[in-house]
Amino acid sequence: MPGPFFADANSGYENAQYVICGVPFDGTSCFRKGSRFAPDVMRANSYNFETYNHLYGIDLDDVNIHDAGDLDVAQDINSTLDMISSHAGKFVNDGKIPIMLGGEHSLTLPFARACKKKYKDLGFVVLDAHMDMRQEYEGEINSHACISRHVYEDITQKYASIGIRSGTREEYEYVGEKHIKVFSADDVFSMGIEKVIGDIRENIRGPIYLSIDMDAIDPAYAPALGTPEPYGLTPRDIRTVISCLAPKVVGFDLVEIAPAYDSGGTALLGARLIRDFIAASARAKS
Ligand code: MN
Ligand code: MN
Repeated sequence: MPGPFFADANSGYENAQYVICGVPFDGTSCFRKGSRFAPDVMRANSYNFETYNHLYGIDLDDVNIHDAGDLDVAQDINSTLDMISSHAGKFVNDGKIPIMLGGEHSLTLPFARACKKKYKDLGFVVLDAHMDMRQEYEGEINSHACISRHVYEDITQKYASIGIRSGTREEYEYVGEKHIKVFSADDVFSMGIEKVIGDIRENIRGPIYLSIDMDAIDPAYAPALGTPEPYGLTPRDIRTVISCLAPKVVGFDLVEIAPAYDSGGTALLGARLIRDFIAASARAKS
């Protein structure tokens, strides 16, 4: 039966290894709004799946998962970031792995920052169609189009992105000048995802914050997105990244689903990827 919380999030906060929270905010989204509805739609879809994950030999019923519900948000992004940052800090300082359900991509910042405070050598891996390397967008420095720039400049230069196929000339010049690790969707197609992951792991060996902007995936598989971009990755590529990196991941988010734009498949896939992440991480810790 669908419930108000993510399926199998049966643990209280104290004992939880994984703390799920929703952030229903999409105020800076520019094309299709609606990602504020994604946390609850993913929760509802999470009841579709078996508790047992055969890939990892893990039953999520046996894993201590807590769903903290949705965090309070404000009308504007800057107040919202302030409001959620104390929660992010608490989850991380209490030794939990936060799993943030967006909402838009700008919401990643306080969670990545909280992880960096605790894990000094934090690396950041993002799956995205878009560079998100703008300094500002439509006058807003905390727009979802700027998240990777903030992470790279303010949080960690142990940064890599996978699935990129959209950016401005300035963004492409910026990552070129800085020699930032950007793997395009075409790179994944030609190299294979395992080779891309291997290359990233040679450069990022410590703890990782993993951020999944769902538009990394091809809109054929995931059409309900804020800013869909053709020629993307497959769900299996994303699952492989999750599977390979999960043992190192100390913070996770999945953002940018706008559920109104399909008949439920994109949120279903999002819920599945979250469940695969938890199972892969729990397997590594068992
Ligand atoms: Mn993004
Ligand atoms: Mn994107």
